[in-house]
Amino acid sequence: MADIATFFVKTKLHLSQNLSYFPVFLTTAKQIHRNSLSLLMNVDYLIVGLGLAGTLLANELFRQNKTVMVFDNPETPKASLVAAGIINPVVFRRMTKSWLIDDAFPRMEKTYRQLEDLLKEDLYYPGRMIRFLSEEGVVFWKEKVFANRLETYIDAEPDLNFRNSNITNHYSFGCVNKSGRLDIQKLISEFLEFLKRKNSLKKVKFDFGKLTIKADLVSYNDITAKKIIFCEGPSADQNPYFQNLKFKHSKGEIIELKIPELNMNEIISDEVFVMPAGNDRYKVGATYTWDTLNWETTDSAREELLAKFKKITSVIPEMISQKAGIRPTMHDRKPVIGVHPECPRIGIFNGLGSKGVLLGPYFARQLADYLVGISDFIHPEADIKRYFPSFPSSDQGVKKGI
Ligand SMILES: Cc1cc2nc3c(=O)[nH]c(=O)nc-3n(C[C@H](O)[C@H](O)[C@H](O)COP(=O)(O)OP(=O)(O)OC[C@H]3O[C@@H](n4cnc5c(N)ncnc54)[C@H](O)[C@@H]3O)c2cc1C
Repeated sequence: MADIATFFVKTKLHLSQNLSYFPVFLTTAKQIHRNSLSLLMNVDYLIVGLGLAGTLLANELFRQNKTVMVFDNPETPKASLVAAGIINPVVFRRMTKSWLIDDAFPRMEKTYRQLEDLLKEDLYYPGRMIRFLSEEGVVFWKEKVFANRLETYIDAEPDLNFRNSNITNHYSFGCVNKSGRLDIQKLISEFLEFLKRKNSLKKVKFDFGKLTIKADLVSYNDITAKKIIFCEGPSADQNPYFQNLKFKHSKGEIIELKIPELNMNEIISDEVFVMPAGNDRYKVGATYTWDTLNWETTDSAREELLAKFKKITSVIPEMISQKAGIRPTMHDRKPVIGVHPECPRIGIFNGLGSKGVLLGPYFARQLADYLVGISDFIHPEADIKRYFPSFPSSDQGVKKGI
Protein backbone atom coordinates (compact mmCIF):
# COMPACT_ATOMS: atom_id res chain seq x y z
CA MET A 1 0.00 0.00 0.00
CA ALA A 2 2.85 2.33 0.86
CA ASP A 3 4.37 1.73 -2.62
CA ILE A 4 1.13 2.66 -4.38
CA ALA A 5 0.80 5.80 -2.34
CA THR A 6 4.42 6.76 -3.14
CA PHE A 7 3.74 6.17 -6.86
CA PHE A 8 0.80 8.56 -6.93
CA VAL A 9 2.76 11.20 -5.04
CA LYS A 10 5.60 10.77 -7.53
CA THR A 11 3.25 10.75 -10.53
CA LYS A 12 1.47 13.84 -9.37
CA LEU A 13 4.73 15.69 -8.85
CA HIS A 14 6.03 14.56 -12.21
CA LEU A 15 2.91 15.39 -14.15
CA SER A 16 2.40 18.68 -12.47
CA GLN A 17 5.71 19.96 -13.89
CA ASN A 18 4.27 20.84 -17.31
CA LEU A 19 1.23 18.76 -18.15
CA SER A 20 -1.91 20.60 -17.33
CA TYR A 21 -3.76 18.62 -20.06
CA PHE A 22 -2.91 15.26 -18.55
CA PRO A 23 -5.78 13.68 -16.59
CA VAL A 24 -4.54 12.12 -13.41
CA PHE A 25 -6.87 9.50 -12.00
CA LEU A 26 -6.06 9.82 -8.36
CA THR A 27 -7.49 6.61 -7.08
CA THR A 28 -7.18 6.27 -3.34
CA ALA A 29 -5.16 3.41 -1.91
CA LYS A 30 -8.36 2.02 -0.40
CA GLN A 31 -10.11 1.91 -3.78
CA ILE A 32 -7.15 0.22 -5.44
CA HIS A 33 -7.02 -2.40 -2.70
CA ARG A 34 -10.76 -3.04 -3.11
CA ASN A 35 -10.40 -3.26 -6.91
CA SER A 36 -7.42 -5.61 -6.66
CA LEU A 37 -9.50 -8.14 -4.75
CA SER A 38 -11.77 -8.55 -7.79
CA LEU A 39 -9.05 -8.64 -10.48
CA LEU A 40 -9.76 -11.61 -12.70
CA MET A 41 -7.70 -11.32 -15.83
CA ASN A 42 -4.15 -10.37 -16.69
CA VAL A 43 -2.91 -9.76 -20.23
CA ASP A 44 0.27 -8.28 -21.67
CA TYR A 45 -1.40 -5.44 -23.61
CA LEU A 46 -4.71 -3.65 -23.82
CA ILE A 47 -5.51 -2.23 -27.26
CA VAL A 48 -8.22 0.35 -27.83
CA GLY A 49 -9.64 0.26 -31.37
CA LEU A 50 -10.04 -2.47 -33.96
CA GLY A 51 -9.53 -0.66 -37.23
CA LEU A 52 -6.56 -1.46 -39.43
CA ALA A 53 -4.05 -0.15 -36.83
CA GLY A 54 -5.45 -2.18 -33.91
CA THR A 55 -5.76 -5.29 -36.08
CA LEU A 56 -2.17 -5.13 -37.31
CA LEU A 57 -0.75 -4.38 -33.88
CA ALA A 58 -2.71 -7.16 -32.17
CA ASN A 59 -1.56 -9.56 -34.87
CA GLU A 60 2.09 -8.63 -34.35
CA LEU A 61 1.79 -9.03 -30.58
CA PHE A 62 0.15 -12.44 -30.95
CA ARG A 63 2.99 -13.45 -33.28
CA GLN A 64 5.35 -12.65 -30.40
CA ASN A 65 3.29 -14.87 -28.08
CA LYS A 66 1.87 -11.95 -26.13
CA THR A 67 -1.64 -11.83 -24.75
CA VAL A 68 -3.95 -9.01 -25.73
CA MET A 69 -7.39 -7.64 -24.93
CA VAL A 70 -8.90 -5.38 -27.59
CA PHE A 71 -11.66 -2.87 -26.83
CA ASP A 72 -13.69 -1.82 -29.83
CA ASN A 73 -16.80 0.27 -29.88
CA PRO A 74 -19.16 -1.03 -32.59
CA GLU A 75 -20.97 2.33 -32.49
CA THR A 76 -17.90 4.40 -33.47
CA PRO A 77 -17.42 4.67 -37.24
CA LYS A 78 -14.17 3.26 -38.63
CA ALA A 79 -12.09 4.77 -41.43
CA SER A 80 -11.09 1.21 -42.23
CA LEU A 81 -14.64 0.28 -43.18
CA VAL A 82 -14.75 3.07 -45.75
CA ALA A 83 -11.27 2.68 -47.30
CA ALA A 84 -10.84 1.27 -50.79
CA GLY A 85 -7.66 -0.49 -49.69
CA ILE A 86 -5.51 0.54 -52.66
CA ILE A 87 -1.75 0.08 -52.58
CA ASN A 88 0.22 2.61 -54.60
CA PRO A 89 4.02 2.72 -54.29
CA VAL A 90 4.47 5.84 -56.46
CA VAL A 91 3.89 9.57 -55.96
CA PHE A 92 2.76 10.40 -59.52
CA ARG A 93 2.98 14.17 -59.22
CA ARG A 94 6.75 14.02 -58.70
CA MET A 95 7.26 10.50 -60.01
CA THR A 96 9.10 9.46 -56.84
CA LYS A 97 8.84 6.47 -54.56
CA SER A 98 6.27 6.64 -51.82
CA TRP A 99 7.81 7.25 -48.36
CA LEU A 100 9.68 4.20 -46.95
CA ILE A 101 8.41 2.04 -49.79
CA ASP A 102 11.48 -0.21 -50.11
CA ASP A 103 11.03 -1.35 -46.50
CA ALA A 104 7.27 -1.03 -46.23
CA PHE A 105 6.31 -2.94 -49.40
CA PRO A 106 7.97 -6.28 -48.56
CA ARG A 107 6.75 -6.06 -44.96
CA MET A 108 3.22 -5.38 -46.24
CA GLU A 109 3.24 -8.38 -48.57
CA LYS A 110 4.53 -10.74 -45.87
CA THR A 111 2.05 -9.48 -43.29
CA TYR A 112 -1.07 -9.81 -45.45
CA ARG A 113 0.00 -13.25 -46.65
CA GLN A 114 0.54 -14.29 -43.01
CA LEU A 115 -2.91 -12.92 -42.11
CA GLU A 116 -4.44 -14.84 -45.02
CA ASP A 117 -2.88 -18.02 -43.62
CA LEU A 118 -4.03 -17.22 -40.09
CA LEU A 119 -7.61 -16.33 -41.05
CA LYS A 120 -7.93 -18.75 -43.99
CA GLU A 121 -9.33 -16.01 -46.23
CA ASP A 122 -8.27 -14.22 -49.42
CA LEU A 123 -7.45 -10.66 -48.42
CA TYR A 124 -4.57 -9.36 -50.51
CA TYR A 125 -4.94 -8.88 -54.28
CA PRO A 126 -1.73 -7.76 -55.97
CA GLY A 127 -2.39 -6.17 -59.35
CA ARG A 128 -1.57 -3.45 -61.85
CA MET A 129 -2.44 0.22 -61.76
CA ILE A 130 -2.78 2.18 -64.98
CA ARG A 131 -1.98 5.88 -65.22
CA PHE A 132 -3.11 7.94 -68.23
CA LEU A 133 -0.22 9.76 -69.90
CA SER A 134 -0.07 12.68 -72.30
CA GLU A 135 2.85 13.10 -74.71
CA GLU A 136 4.73 15.18 -72.10
CA GLY A 137 3.71 12.68 -69.44
CA VAL A 138 5.50 9.92 -71.34
CA VAL A 139 8.70 11.95 -71.43
CA PHE A 140 8.43 12.66 -67.67
CA TRP A 141 7.69 8.99 -66.92
CA LYS A 142 10.73 7.76 -68.88
CA GLU A 143 12.97 10.45 -67.41
CA LYS A 144 12.07 9.63 -63.79
CA VAL A 145 11.83 5.86 -63.84
CA PHE A 146 15.58 5.30 -63.56
CA ALA A 147 16.50 8.68 -62.04
CA ASN A 148 14.23 7.91 -59.08
CA ARG A 149 14.90 4.15 -58.99
CA LEU A 150 11.28 3.29 -59.72
CA GLU A 151 12.00 0.34 -61.97
CA THR A 152 11.08 -2.18 -59.25
CA TYR A 153 7.57 -0.77 -59.11
CA ILE A 154 6.69 0.52 -62.58
CA ASP A 155 7.23 -0.51 -66.17
CA ALA A 156 9.95 1.67 -67.64
CA GLU A 157 8.25 1.87 -71.04
CA PRO A 158 4.77 3.36 -71.12
CA ASP A 159 2.30 1.01 -72.74
CA LEU A 160 1.03 2.37 -76.04
CA ASN A 161 -1.05 -0.75 -76.53
CA PHE A 162 -3.10 -0.84 -73.33
CA ARG A 163 -6.62 -0.63 -74.62
CA ASN A 164 -10.01 -1.24 -73.13
CA SER A 165 -12.79 -0.27 -75.51
CA ASN A 166 -14.73 1.21 -72.60
CA ILE A 167 -11.88 3.38 -71.34
CA THR A 168 -11.42 6.78 -72.96
CA ASN A 169 -8.43 6.66 -75.26
CA HIS A 170 -5.26 8.46 -74.24
CA TYR A 171 -1.89 9.13 -75.83
CA SER A 172 -0.28 6.43 -73.68
CA PHE A 173 -0.53 4.52 -70.41
CA GLY A 174 1.95 4.10 -67.58
CA CYS A 175 1.79 0.83 -65.68
CA VAL A 176 2.54 0.36 -61.98
CA ASN A 177 3.08 -3.37 -61.74
CA LYS A 178 3.39 -3.50 -57.94
CA SER A 179 0.00 -2.20 -56.97
CA GLY A 180 -3.17 -3.93 -55.83
CA ARG A 181 -5.62 -3.82 -53.00
CA LEU A 182 -6.36 -5.20 -49.57
CA ASP A 183 -9.88 -6.23 -48.64
CA ILE A 184 -9.69 -4.27 -45.37
CA GLN A 185 -13.34 -4.84 -44.50
CA LYS A 186 -12.94 -8.60 -44.71
CA LEU A 187 -9.64 -8.48 -42.80
CA ILE A 188 -11.23 -6.62 -39.90
CA SER A 189 -14.42 -8.67 -39.75
CA GLU A 190 -12.42 -11.93 -39.85
CA PHE A 191 -9.89 -10.72 -37.29
CA LEU A 192 -12.76 -9.71 -35.02
CA GLU A 193 -14.07 -13.29 -35.14
CA PHE A 194 -10.54 -14.56 -34.45
CA LEU A 195 -10.31 -12.31 -31.37
CA LYS A 196 -13.71 -13.52 -30.16
CA ARG A 197 -12.53 -17.12 -30.40
CA LYS A 198 -9.46 -16.22 -28.34
CA ASN A 199 -11.62 -14.41 -25.77
CA SER A 200 -9.59 -11.28 -26.56
CA LEU A 201 -12.30 -8.81 -27.52
CA LYS A 202 -14.58 -6.44 -25.61
CA LYS A 203 -17.15 -4.84 -27.89
CA VAL A 204 -17.63 -1.75 -25.75
CA LYS A 205 -16.74 1.89 -25.74
CA PHE A 206 -13.53 2.36 -23.79
CA ASP A 207 -14.23 4.61 -20.80
CA PHE A 208 -11.20 6.66 -19.75
CA GLY A 209 -12.68 7.08 -16.27
CA LYS A 210 -12.20 3.37 -15.63
CA LEU A 211 -8.51 3.29 -16.48
CA THR A 212 -6.04 3.20 -13.62
CA ILE A 213 -2.37 3.71 -14.33
CA LYS A 214 0.09 2.43 -11.80
CA ALA A 215 3.88 2.36 -11.80
CA ASP A 216 4.13 -1.19 -13.11
CA LEU A 217 0.76 -1.86 -14.79
CA VAL A 218 -2.53 -0.47 -16.02
CA SER A 219 -5.93 -1.75 -15.03
CA TYR A 220 -9.42 -1.43 -16.47
CA ASN A 221 -12.33 -2.94 -14.59
CA ASP A 222 -11.20 -6.50 -13.92
CA ILE A 223 -8.29 -6.59 -16.39
CA THR A 224 -4.66 -5.69 -15.77
CA ALA A 225 -1.94 -5.28 -18.39
CA LYS A 226 1.62 -4.09 -18.80
CA LYS A 227 0.61 -1.33 -21.17
CA ILE A 228 -2.34 0.11 -23.04
CA ILE A 229 -2.01 1.11 -26.69
CA PHE A 230 -4.54 3.45 -28.26
CA CYS A 231 -5.40 2.73 -31.92
CA GLU A 232 -8.51 4.89 -32.05
CA GLY A 233 -8.18 6.29 -35.55
CA PRO A 234 -9.70 9.76 -35.92
CA SER A 235 -11.27 9.61 -32.42
CA ALA A 236 -7.79 9.99 -30.95
CA ASP A 237 -8.17 13.75 -30.98
CA GLN A 238 -10.62 13.25 -28.08
CA ASN A 239 -8.13 11.15 -26.07
CA PRO A 240 -7.21 13.09 -22.93
CA TYR A 241 -3.67 11.64 -22.90
CA PHE A 242 -2.74 12.91 -26.34
CA GLN A 243 -4.06 16.44 -26.34
CA ASN A 244 -0.76 17.97 -27.45
CA LEU A 245 -0.52 15.87 -30.62
CA LYS A 246 -1.31 17.82 -33.79
CA PHE A 247 -3.98 16.00 -35.76
CA LYS A 248 -5.07 17.21 -39.19
CA HIS A 249 -7.65 14.67 -40.30
CA SER A 250 -9.27 14.77 -43.72
CA LYS A 251 -12.72 13.66 -44.77
CA GLY A 252 -13.06 11.38 -47.80
CA GLU A 253 -15.98 10.03 -49.75
CA ILE A 254 -16.14 7.06 -52.05
CA ILE A 255 -18.82 5.49 -54.24
CA GLU A 256 -19.36 1.92 -55.32
CA LEU A 257 -20.70 1.24 -58.79
CA LYS A 258 -21.87 -1.83 -60.66
CA ILE A 259 -20.57 -1.84 -64.26
CA PRO A 260 -20.87 -5.26 -65.94
CA GLU A 261 -19.65 -3.90 -69.32
CA LEU A 262 -16.39 -2.52 -68.01
CA ASN A 263 -14.68 -5.86 -67.58
CA MET A 264 -11.48 -4.39 -66.17
CA ASN A 265 -8.87 -5.95 -63.88
CA GLU A 266 -6.52 -2.98 -63.51
CA ILE A 267 -6.92 -0.09 -61.10
CA ILE A 268 -7.17 3.20 -63.00
CA SER A 269 -5.51 6.23 -61.43
CA ASP A 270 -6.59 9.55 -62.92
CA GLU A 271 -8.38 12.47 -61.25
CA VAL A 272 -10.13 9.69 -59.32
CA PHE A 273 -9.25 6.03 -58.95
CA VAL A 274 -11.46 3.27 -60.31
CA MET A 275 -10.76 0.05 -58.45
CA PRO A 276 -12.21 -3.35 -59.41
CA ALA A 277 -13.74 -4.91 -56.29
CA GLY A 278 -15.07 -8.17 -57.77
CA ASN A 279 -18.48 -9.21 -59.18
CA ASP A 280 -18.62 -6.28 -61.64
CA ARG A 281 -18.34 -3.81 -58.77
CA TYR A 282 -15.92 -0.88 -58.84
CA LYS A 283 -14.98 1.60 -56.12
CA VAL A 284 -14.46 5.16 -57.27
CA GLY A 285 -12.85 7.79 -55.07
CA ALA A 286 -11.88 9.61 -53.22
CA THR A 287 -12.62 13.18 -52.25
CA TYR A 288 -10.50 15.18 -49.81
CA THR A 289 -11.88 17.90 -47.55
CA TRP A 290 -10.53 19.36 -44.33
CA ASP A 291 -13.20 21.83 -43.20
CA THR A 292 -16.25 19.71 -42.31
CA LEU A 293 -15.04 16.60 -40.52
CA ASN A 294 -18.04 14.31 -40.23
CA TRP A 295 -19.14 10.90 -41.51
CA GLU A 296 -22.09 12.15 -43.60
CA THR A 297 -22.23 11.48 -47.32
CA THR A 298 -22.91 14.51 -49.51
CA ASP A 299 -24.52 15.12 -52.91
CA SER A 300 -21.62 17.36 -53.91
CA ALA A 301 -19.04 14.60 -53.36
CA ARG A 302 -21.13 12.08 -55.30
CA GLU A 303 -21.50 14.52 -58.21
CA GLU A 304 -17.77 15.30 -58.16
CA LEU A 305 -16.84 11.61 -58.25
CA LEU A 306 -19.34 10.78 -61.00
CA ALA A 307 -18.19 13.74 -63.14
CA LYS A 308 -14.56 12.59 -62.87
CA PHE A 309 -15.57 8.99 -63.50
CA LYS A 310 -17.32 10.05 -66.72
CA LYS A 311 -14.02 11.39 -68.05
CA ILE A 312 -12.60 7.86 -67.76
CA THR A 313 -15.39 5.85 -69.35
CA SER A 314 -18.66 6.46 -71.11
CA VAL A 315 -20.41 3.36 -69.75
CA ILE A 316 -23.42 4.08 -67.57
CA PRO A 317 -22.91 2.69 -64.06
CA GLU A 318 -25.44 1.58 -61.50
CA MET A 319 -24.89 3.28 -58.14
CA ILE A 320 -24.59 0.74 -55.32
CA SER A 321 -23.47 2.78 -52.35
CA GLN A 322 -21.73 5.89 -51.10
CA LYS A 323 -19.62 6.13 -47.95
CA ALA A 324 -17.85 8.89 -46.08
CA GLY A 325 -15.04 8.59 -43.57
CA ILE A 326 -12.30 10.47 -41.80
CA ARG A 327 -8.66 9.63 -42.48
CA PRO A 328 -6.71 9.76 -39.21
CA THR A 329 -3.87 12.11 -40.14
CA MET A 330 -1.17 14.07 -38.31
CA HIS A 331 -0.14 17.65 -39.14
CA ASP A 332 2.98 16.42 -40.98
CA ARG A 333 1.16 13.47 -42.59
CA LYS A 334 3.43 10.95 -40.88
CA PRO A 335 2.08 8.23 -38.56
CA VAL A 336 2.46 8.57 -34.81
CA ILE A 337 3.74 5.58 -32.84
CA GLY A 338 5.43 4.91 -29.54
CA VAL A 339 4.82 5.20 -25.83
CA HIS A 340 3.92 8.41 -24.10
CA PRO A 341 7.19 10.05 -23.04
CA GLU A 342 5.59 11.23 -19.79
CA CYS A 343 3.78 7.99 -19.03
CA PRO A 344 5.33 4.89 -20.62
CA ARG A 345 2.43 2.61 -19.66
CA ILE A 346 0.42 4.31 -22.45
CA GLY A 347 1.16 4.05 -26.17
CA ILE A 348 -0.31 5.07 -29.50
CA PHE A 349 -0.52 3.79 -33.08
CA ASN A 350 -2.26 6.29 -35.29
CA GLY A 351 -1.95 8.79 -38.16
CA LEU A 352 -2.00 6.21 -40.96
CA GLY A 353 -3.66 8.82 -43.20
CA SER A 354 -4.35 7.68 -46.75
CA LYS A 355 -1.54 5.09 -46.76
CA GLY A 356 -2.68 2.76 -44.01
CA VAL A 357 -2.62 -0.42 -46.08
CA LEU A 358 0.95 0.12 -47.21
CA LEU A 359 2.53 1.61 -44.09
CA GLY A 360 0.45 -0.09 -41.39
CA PRO A 361 2.31 -3.43 -41.35
CA TYR A 362 5.75 -1.77 -41.27
CA PHE A 363 4.85 0.42 -38.28
CA ALA A 364 2.87 -2.30 -36.49
CA ARG A 365 5.97 -4.53 -36.56
CA GLN A 366 8.17 -1.64 -35.42
CA LEU A 367 5.90 -0.77 -32.51
CA ALA A 368 5.43 -4.39 -31.44
CA ASP A 369 9.19 -4.98 -31.46
CA TYR A 370 9.65 -1.84 -29.41
CA LEU A 371 6.96 -2.83 -26.89
CA VAL A 372 8.29 -6.33 -26.32
CA GLY A 373 11.88 -5.11 -26.12
CA ILE A 374 13.35 -6.65 -29.29
CA SER A 375 14.27 -3.24 -30.64
CA ASP A 376 14.69 0.35 -29.47
CA PHE A 377 14.08 1.69 -32.96
CA ILE A 378 11.16 3.87 -33.83
CA HIS A 379 11.39 5.81 -37.05
CA PRO A 380 12.13 9.38 -35.89
CA GLU A 381 9.62 10.92 -38.33
CA ALA A 382 6.84 8.74 -36.86
CA ASP A 383 7.98 8.78 -33.24
CA ILE A 384 5.50 10.30 -30.78
CA LYS A 385 8.50 12.07 -29.26
CA ARG A 386 8.41 14.62 -32.07
CA TYR A 387 5.51 16.16 -30.15
CA PHE A 388 7.60 16.29 -26.98
CA PRO A 389 10.67 18.32 -27.95
CA SER A 390 12.28 17.98 -24.52
CA PHE A 391 12.55 14.20 -25.01
CA PRO A 392 15.23 12.87 -27.38
CA SER A 393 14.01 10.52 -30.15
CA SER A 394 14.30 6.77 -29.70
CA ASP A 395 17.73 5.29 -30.29
CA GLN A 396 18.07 5.26 -34.06
CA GLY A 397 21.17 3.11 -33.94
CA VAL A 398 19.78 0.12 -32.11
CA LYS A 399 17.98 -2.40 -34.29
CA LYS A 400 18.10 -5.75 -32.62
CA GLY A 401 17.02 -8.85 -34.48
CA ILE A 402 14.85 -7.21 -37.15
C1 LIG B 1 -12.67 7.56 -48.29
C2 LIG B 1 -11.42 6.91 -47.80
C3 LIG B 1 -10.67 6.13 -48.66
C4 LIG B 1 -9.50 5.53 -48.22
N1 LIG B 1 -8.81 4.75 -49.10
C5 LIG B 1 -7.66 4.18 -48.72
C6 LIG B 1 -6.92 3.37 -49.61
O1 LIG B 1 -7.33 3.13 -50.74
N2 LIG B 1 -5.73 2.83 -49.18
C7 LIG B 1 -5.26 3.07 -47.92
O2 LIG B 1 -4.17 2.59 -47.59
N3 LIG B 1 -5.95 3.83 -47.03
C8 LIG B 1 -7.13 4.38 -47.40
N4 LIG B 1 -7.84 5.14 -46.52
C9 LIG B 1 -7.24 5.39 -45.18
C10 LIG B 1 -7.50 4.23 -44.22
O3 LIG B 1 -8.88 4.16 -44.03
C11 LIG B 1 -6.79 4.52 -42.89
O4 LIG B 1 -5.40 4.69 -43.07
C12 LIG B 1 -6.96 3.37 -41.90
O5 LIG B 1 -8.15 2.68 -42.11
C13 LIG B 1 -6.90 3.89 -40.48
O6 LIG B 1 -7.11 2.83 -39.58
P1 LIG B 1 -7.20 3.08 -38.02
O7 LIG B 1 -7.25 1.76 -37.38
O8 LIG B 1 -6.12 4.03 -37.58
O9 LIG B 1 -8.58 3.88 -37.79
P2 LIG B 1 -10.09 3.32 -37.83
O10 LIG B 1 -10.28 2.39 -38.93
O11 LIG B 1 -10.99 4.52 -37.78
O12 LIG B 1 -10.26 2.50 -36.49
C14 LIG B 1 -10.33 3.10 -35.22
C15 LIG B 1 -11.08 2.16 -34.30
O13 LIG B 1 -11.03 2.68 -32.97
C16 LIG B 1 -12.30 2.43 -32.37
N5 LIG B 1 -12.46 3.36 -31.24
C17 LIG B 1 -12.23 4.69 -31.22
N6 LIG B 1 -12.47 5.18 -29.99
C18 LIG B 1 -12.85 4.12 -29.21
C19 LIG B 1 -13.24 3.98 -27.83
N7 LIG B 1 -13.27 5.00 -26.97
N8 LIG B 1 -13.58 2.74 -27.38
C20 LIG B 1 -13.53 1.64 -28.20
N9 LIG B 1 -13.18 1.74 -29.53
C21 LIG B 1 -12.85 2.96 -30.01
C22 LIG B 1 -13.30 2.66 -33.50
O14 LIG B 1 -14.50 1.98 -33.21
C23 LIG B 1 -12.55 2.03 -34.66
O15 LIG B 1 -12.86 0.65 -34.74
C24 LIG B 1 -9.04 5.73 -46.89
C25 LIG B 1 -9.81 6.48 -46.01
C26 LIG B 1 -10.99 7.07 -46.46
C27 LIG B 1 -11.80 7.86 -45.48
